[in-house]
Amino acid sequence: MDKNFQEEFTQIIKFKPPLYKQRHQFVKDLVEKYKPKKVADLGCADCSLLRMLKFCSCIEVLAGLDICANVMKEKMHTLSPLPVDYLQPSERSLTVTLHHGSVAHKDPCMLGFDLVTCIELIEHLEEPELKKFPEVVFGFMAPSIVVISTPNSEFNPLLPGVMLYRHPDHKFEWNRAQFQSWALETARCYDYSVEFTGVGHPPTGMEKAGFCTQIGVFIRKHPQTGESVQSEKPTEAVYKTVFKAVYPSLKDEKYLQNAVISEVIFTAQIIKHRLMSKHEEYGDDPERKSKFQPSMDCFSDYLGKLVVEKNMEPFISGNEVYIPLVTIFSFPKVKRLCGTFEKLCKLIAGKVTLSSDGSAVMFNIEHENEEN
Ligand code: SAH
Repeated sequence: MDKNFQEEFTQIIKFKPPLYKQRHQFVKDLVEKYKPKKVADLGCADCSLLRMLKFCSCIEVLAGLDICANVMKEKMHTLSPLPVDYLQPSERSLTVTLHHGSVAHKDPCMLGFDLVTCIELIEHLEEPELKKFPEVVFGFMAPSIVVISTPNSEFNPLLPGVMLYRHPDHKFEWNRAQFQSWALETARCYDYSVEFTGVGHPPTGMEKAGFCTQIGVFIRKHPQTGESVQSEKPTEAVYKTVFKAVYPSLKDEKYLQNAVISEVIFTAQIIKHRLMSKHEEYGDDPERKSKFQPSMDCFSDYLGKLVVEKNMEPFISGNEVYIPLVTIFSFPKVKRLCGTFEKLCKLIAGKVTLSSDGSAVMFNIEHENEEN
């Protein structure tokens, strides 16, 4: 490499977006492609990748592991649910856990993951840990996909100020041939295929250096059989769980019930409001009522279409307004939340005031009339 040319580049190389963001984006793209439900990030450090992944709607279980509990604890509170998560529980379930321990040890809590990410981890491992790493990750955890990123030492001469390694805690940095031979041997041993790529493009004219960060994406060749899972049932727990957050989800009956009750009352209130304004406008005169032209808004149109069946029609009797449950159930959001009409009835039983036969939501409008 021409020294002057090289020096010129070392002054100007600046990745946009920053390299760590490109690595995390790479993982996010992988998640969007393969849609894993359970993802573990090994060497999760300050949990920044986990924080990004919690927004991927396919993920239901997220776990982080690091040998340094302090670095994990620094920002782990940012993995907790926010007030808005309770106000509007998501349809998916999500559990986030953080474990303190080493990738050199097996723990049953790391079983059953679809994707395991090791971003800039292996170069931090001491030789004995690196030796154990393939057996723990590929042999024991055996997820469908493993992604490993590590510095490409061939890029180092282009980085300003890098003498030996990019970080004082790095135990080694591999060139592409070293990483690829280790990865291919690991993949062969544990029956995975591996493809190589990277992030952080070299500058024009320096393409030979390759990506700044090299990445191996390993895909397990065969699905795990029940037998192999069984035979590998581990010993005892060795990691310490330092954080666990269970996000509110509509899969939890308690949150589903709250959401259904709110939606039923909200829908019934709107129908009641429309019915009462119609009632005030046309009174009880059936002649004038039949001449009623629905207003142009979508809701009235929708309601108009719904009440073709007599038993779906809301009505006023004395001081009471009745909104049939079948009408409420026919609203898409209510239907989506409950699934079946029976489930709707079960979820609101005893929580919403119903007519004596239980077929309609009932409102007493005595006081509303007084106010008017
Ligand atoms: N993955 C992070 C940062 C990686 S830095 C990111 O993408 O930004 C490497 C991390 O690996 C450090 O937090 C370090 O504490 C952790 N680490 C080092 N040895 C480890 C081991 N044996 N087991 C688990 N984590 C380890």
